[in-house]
Amino acid sequence: MPSIDYAALVALLARILARHGYSASNAHVLAETMAMAERDAAHSHGAFRLEGYLDDASSGWAKADAVPRLLPSPAALILVDADNGHAQPAWRRGRDRLVARAGELGLAGMVIRNSHHLAALWPEVEDLAEAGLVGLNFRGTRPFLALPGGRAPLLGTNPWAFACPRAGQPPIVFDMASSAMARGDMLLAAREGRAVPEGAGLDAEGLPTTDPAAITGGGAQLPFGGVKGGLVALMVELLANALTGSLLALQDQSAEVAGAATANGGQLILAINPGASGGQGFAAQVEMLAAALEATGARMPGARRHAARARSLREGIPLEAERLAELHTLAGD
Ligand code: NDP
Repeated sequence: MPSIDYAALVALLARILARHGYSASNAHVLAETMAMAERDAAHSHGAFRLEGYLDDASSGWAKADAVPRLLPSPAALILVDADNGHAQPAWRRGRDRLVARAGELGLAGMVIRNSHHLAALWPEVEDLAEAGLVGLNFRGTRPFLALPGGRAPLLGTNPWAFACPRAGQPPIVFDMASSAMARGDMLLAAREGRAVPEGAGLDAEGLPTTDPAAITGGGAQLPFGGVKGGLVALMVELLANALTGSLLALQDQSAEVAGAATANGGQLILAINPGASGGQGFAAQVEMLAAALEATGARMPGARRHAARARSLREGIPLEAERLAELHTLAGD
């Protein structure tokens, strides 16, 4: 398979986004978001998402030239209005301030409202861990998920992420949807006519099915781990949407806008300074636990991505020739 280096992929994706209405700065940030995912072999949120960004902008649903603004807020909160644009430029707008506040206060949070999200959640918390902070990240999505016992998809597939810094090692990072299957995997299975595992969703009548087309065409996805995952989805909905002054998934209007790929919703990112909370022993405790877990044969979450990252930076990012050609066409090359 051909490969492309990270900087070249960022530049190519940024040119496409800018050619389709994104401001230069937003195009660059979103291009980095997708290229980082490709670099880390997190393909479900890599260049695969480009058309979603283009549709969001061309439908007028999300603002391609959005300018995120910091709003007045109490010291421990950074409040950012994303101006109906994607959340990553809003994150970049407040990131340094969040890191500084968490360092000073021990605990700080960023509230992003009026924003869209089409990406993975690990980049934000990994930024925090690289600054020596523990990070938590909560994001709402479009309404795709029913709680077990209910039949209507009133919640999002609501992803959340966690990162913990390590001394001299890549951070411990995990990042997951609250649904048993990621939406992208469900759509792919529907497109390919493949059955999905039992417990992944319900049909329009609220009956269990393994037919992904029935789940995505009027049915509902189900959470991971039964009702426990459903309650995680409920928590994420409340933290990411209600607590940030944003619309709930059940209030989402995107289905009425042709081309809209995202909900206009919120995001909550929390940063904790482990020096302030866990004291001098924190780093040693983390290493003791990591070593003990690895000795059992388990691996640290994030290790797969970090290994892929090292490989991509050494050898280039593998990208199908056909996809690369499509990207060059979209860039007008
Ligand atoms: P996965 O099930 O692929 O992975 C979940 C996490 O588990 C990852 O952090 C992964 O780390 C870790 N993990 C997997 N296997 C192991 C193992 N054996 N030992 C230790 N850790 C392990 O995630 P999902 O399918 O639930 O979600 C995929 C992506 O979709 C996420 O990035 C999420 O943010 C994104 N998403 C985005 C949405 C949006 O609207 N923006 C909506 C829903 C999901 P590793 O990477 O190292 O394998």
